[in-house]
Amino acid sequence: MGSPRRFSLPGQIPLMAAWLWISLLLLQGSAGVRSDSNYLIGLGSYDITGPAADVNMMGYANTGQVTAGVHFRLRARAFIVAEPQGKRVVFVNLDACMASQLVTIKVLERLKVRYGDLYTESNVAISGIHTHAGPGGFLQYVVYIVTSLGFVRQSFDVIVDGIEKSIIEAHENLRPGSIFVNEGELLDAGVNRSPSGYLNNPAAERSKYKYDVDKEMTLLKFVDSEWGPVGSFNWFATHGTSMSRTNSLISGDNKGAAARFTEDWFNKNGVEMSYLDDLEDSGVPRRVSNIVPEVHNNHHELLELAASFQSPPGKPATKTLSVARRVRSALRQTEKPGFIAAFCQTNCGDVSPNVLGAFCIDTGLPCDFNHSTCGGKNELCYGRGPGYPDEFESTRIIGERQFEKALDLFNKASEQLQGKVDFRHVYLDFSQLEVTIPKQGGGSEVVKTCPASMGFAFAAGTTDGPGAFDFKQGDDQGNPFWKLVRNLLKNPNQTQVDCQHPKPILLDTGEMKQPYDWAPSILPIQMFRIGQLVILSVPGEFTTMAGRRLREAVRQVLTSGGKGQFGGKVHVVIAGLTNTYSQYVTTFEEYQIQRYEGASTLYGPHTLSAYIQEFKKLASAMLSGQPVQPGPLPPDLLDRQISLLTPVVMDATPAGVNFGDVKSDVPKNSTFKRGGMVSVVFWSACPRNDLMTEGTFALVEVLQGKDTWVPAYDDDDFCLRFKWSRPSKLSTRSMATIEWRIPESATPGVYRMRHFGASRD
Ligand SMILES: [Zn+2]
Repeated sequence: MGSPRRFSLPGQIPLMAAWLWISLLLLQGSAGVRSDSNYLIGLGSYDITGPAADVNMMGYANTGQVTAGVHFRLRARAFIVAEPQGKRVVFVNLDACMASQLVTIKVLERLKVRYGDLYTESNVAISGIHTHAGPGGFLQYVVYIVTSLGFVRQSFDVIVDGIEKSIIEAHENLRPGSIFVNEGELLDAGVNRSPSGYLNNPAAERSKYKYDVDKEMTLLKFVDSEWGPVGSFNWFATHGTSMSRTNSLISGDNKGAAARFTEDWFNKNGVEMSYLDDLEDSGVPRRVSNIVPEVHNNHHELLELAASFQSPPGKPATKTLSVARRVRSALRQTEKPGFIAAFCQTNCGDVSPNVLGAFCIDTGLPCDFNHSTCGGKNELCYGRGPGYPDEFESTRIIGERQFEKALDLFNKASEQLQGKVDFRHVYLDFSQLEVTIPKQGGGSEVVKTCPASMGFAFAAGTTDGPGAFDFKQGDDQGNPFWKLVRNLLKNPNQTQVDCQHPKPILLDTGEMKQPYDWAPSILPIQMFRIGQLVILSVPGEFTTMAGRRLREAVRQVLTSGGKGQFGGKVHVVIAGLTNTYSQYVTTFEEYQIQRYEGASTLYGPHTLSAYIQEFKKLASAMLSGQPVQPGPLPPDLLDRQISLLTPVVMDATPAGVNFGDVKSDVPKNSTFKRGGMVSVVFWSACPRNDLMTEGTFALVEVLQGKDTWVPAYDDDDFCLRFKWSRPSKLSTRSMATIEWRIPESATPGVYRMRHFGASRD
């Protein structure tokens, strides 16, 4: 279906502003960036936006938070770096809450069919940005799919497909190029949400650091020898919780927003202009802007023109027509790859983007410091983002801060990565690792990790999303999946209680195997090297201090002992939430406090020490050129998944109404200004019928000439929201409300809005 609505937007063209942009861009020289290529580099990107209706969102574990539309799309973004005759690594950044063991297993199976042994678990890393606004149900362990009513095949498939396609694109784009690294501080995009936990770390250790969260952003700049800059990946620690636990629009949260802003900026302005000289040399046509249409100055003419169009009824569309021409692909030059920007997650365990602090919603006062409660109740304490009380604004602001810092680091990046590409990977059984740690008073002792369990503080959630989980014993009003499994709860034995001490165990997940495994015990850890950059892939959320300890331990191995390969300089970044998911990792001292992060550190107080011990082994093996044993394989539980989400049965419209008909129109003869909001309601059908992958549910088009409509904004734009709703839960009827918040950059002219979808009848 598709149905246009037109209206006009008068105003003046911001000529001054336009010129300012251009002169700024001309100042951004590319000095120092040209150099000999020493690697093959390739980037790729693909849509992974999942079901935009009825599916529980992953992250807050709030059964009531289900998708109902799209704020902007989710993507998988990949880079491949290869030595011309040597090894290669693949890094994929997902606009998803986290990586999933099952997703990783299935992606690797597909890569094996396609490329043989070129890409394996050892040299492919798949990492999640930790948005809490994406559809859930794509993980395999029971505890992570309770609130989504079990496994959601559609969520899973679109992620696996998208990762595979992003890697194929990166593989096919492999060309000579070079990589630059840069680091800098971003001060106002994260605060510690468990400061009382952090404060339990030794004072001497804390005094080595200025802040109680990491402020560093580490950025890679990819420069294709022929095309110039083609992309950028960076790592910075802050939770994807700018959008709240009641939001229902699919969103990449602050990191997804930063990626969208960066890619749009470069594809519309950046690379062409800052590489003006190169482009003129190579004869590539320079694009001023494809999006600025013919300019009308006369308001009356615009109104008359707008009034001359009628809104036609919705009409069926073939599969190929139903995928709208997208704004970004329409703008792209034919040969040149689009700019790809990824904002990756690192040790964000205790880092909140709600930088104004946590306040009680009843009194407006700051929450209790030690427990993040209000009058003893955790459900009243909420963190506030910089756009408070507007979560979309908070998302935009925290996204923009990361975008601006990334742009700055990108423009100034001058340290070129040089040296080997290498990798190591091992699977470890974290339920029973022996760890050698220093003993108080000298010497060392051997301790053990424990089978996974979650403490009581897990159920309290955090200030980013209090009162989280749906686990209430004896609750028969709860969701059907919980009803199915609640009688399978296990009481921990004394060995487990002692091992996990002082955690009071709420759920002994590591020892619960019915109907299938509740929590992972076998986890992958992985280390990539690209020249003087080292990436540590961890399957969880390390807190600030836990991350610092791990990076420092690996750095010491790599730079000590005169082995010389890394010289004096090595950049170590942690890729959080990578390859699989196992919740949090705190320091031993933070674990004693048992806040949310400690309660969610699954394998006991020595979990971090185990990671450090095993990563040091990987680093030593890499230095000495030795292989490592692969370790025990994690299970593939796909065939055992239970799914209780009701499928779409049918869609219907009232008598005499077609799918795609306008239900609520723009007022006749209306005009709009920048900063205003236009809203049109269409009769719709369930978005689960067609995810519109690499397409759009909503489109704003602008009139060029007498009758040519050109796409201007789609549902991947921050300014356009597609909201889907039903009059009641069991109704077969549904509506799509498309809201366009007219940006300051909009050009005056006549616009129309269109809706696309598919119905089941
Ligand atoms: Zn988290």
